[in-house]
Amino acid sequence: MQLSSFGRKFCQASGTLKLMDDLGEAFSSEREMINLGGGNPSHIASIEALFRARLGVLAQRPGELERVVGEYGGPGGDGAFAESLSRLLRAELGWDVGPRNVCVTNGSQSAFFGLFNLLAGPCDDGINRKIMLPMAPEYIGYADVGIAPELFVSRRPMIDFLEDKLFKYRVDFTGLSVGSDIGAICVSRPTNPTGNVLTDDEVSALRELAREADVPLILDDAYGAPFPNIIFGDVNPVWDEDMILCMSLSKLGLPGIRTGIVVASEEVVRALSAVNAILSLAPGSMGPALAIDLIESGEILRISREVIEPHYRDRAARATDLLREELCDYDVFVHKPEGAIFVWLWCRGLPVTNAVLYERLKERGVVVVSGEYFFPGLEEDDWIHKRECLRLTYADDPEKVERGLRIVAEEVRRAYGADAS
Ligand code: PLP
Repeated sequence: MQLSSFGRKFCQASGTLKLMDDLGEAFSSEREMINLGGGNPSHIASIEALFRARLGVLAQRPGELERVVGEYGGPGGDGAFAESLSRLLRAELGWDVGPRNVCVTNGSQSAFFGLFNLLAGPCDDGINRKIMLPMAPEYIGYADVGIAPELFVSRRPMIDFLEDKLFKYRVDFTGLSVGSDIGAICVSRPTNPTGNVLTDDEVSALRELAREADVPLILDDAYGAPFPNIIFGDVNPVWDEDMILCMSLSKLGLPGIRTGIVVASEEVVRALSAVNAILSLAPGSMGPALAIDLIESGEILRISREVIEPHYRDRAARATDLLREELCDYDVFVHKPEGAIFVWLWCRGLPVTNAVLYERLKERGVVVVSGEYFFPGLEEDDWIHKRECLRLTYADDPEKVERGLRIVAEEVRRAYGADAS
């Protein structure tokens, strides 16, 4: 088969594909594996019961299920859903947003494909624009979505050492400028893989930089406010028409129905709807149909605040405490858990690479994600830090997670005691 340049780029050994293949292979074996690797949210019984009940209501309302599954929606998604969501955002957060500022996509991953390729790559003015990630580590899912090669530029963060073997990344604004070759700035808040939450000051500074350069600031809100609200401190959710906010129903517990929601200027919503129309005619309708009543009643905010956030906060604290206790005698640090569903472990001066550690852990039945995948735009940088970190998710069954983390700690101790062969 003769592949096009696009075909070759998408079929090459991309980080995302390798990761998904690897996870698939690990879990298809007979052996019981402990999953500290993937990005699945927890199965939270009360949330699942809520969605089951919503499905029942949907099925019983005359004509509703037939409309949802039996008809294509518009390319930007269901108008009633956009109306409800914008009403909630206006009332709850005071944003000046209306239904025309909302576009539904088949997962926020698809939104990123659309947005990044709309805003970066070769442009008619002859400039080959890039997406600026103000700091890496950043979400692996961005890395390969560019149709044009090398779509990202990013920078190393500053590292603050905190008490109790915690650390926190901060955006290094020194010398950070946004030139005419930048099409947009993008950050995830909370960040996958680190659990970092950018401070309000960092977000303000990035908004200012974006405004000065006349490019949008894309804020990836997959874990953020107002839902699923997996943020453990107080931060101020912001939006205006210069920003593109990418929300998702996945971490609420619905990753299988692939629903992303973009809140942006009408111009961006129109452009993204055009991408939707070409790629998939229309986004799926099931996610909005399941969520709309919860949005109308405000129940989506209550479950996010009272169920989802405390659930992950507790899991994060347990995982962090266990790792710090097990590894207190080593030069190992945990990123301050501020949100999302991961712990980010930094084993400073580790005598083996995280790739070796990953293989050893797989042999012991524990799947993790090796940190070097999470530096899109920094591929050429041989920063040793990239090979010293691991991403571990604590979303799975707590007993299994604990067992898995203890094995991780054992292997880290062994690696420090072993030679770098
Ligand atoms: N953004 C971040 C930071 C994520 O972690 C994920 C998934 O794990 C996504 C976006 C994509 O989410 P989805 O396509 O399921 O909406």
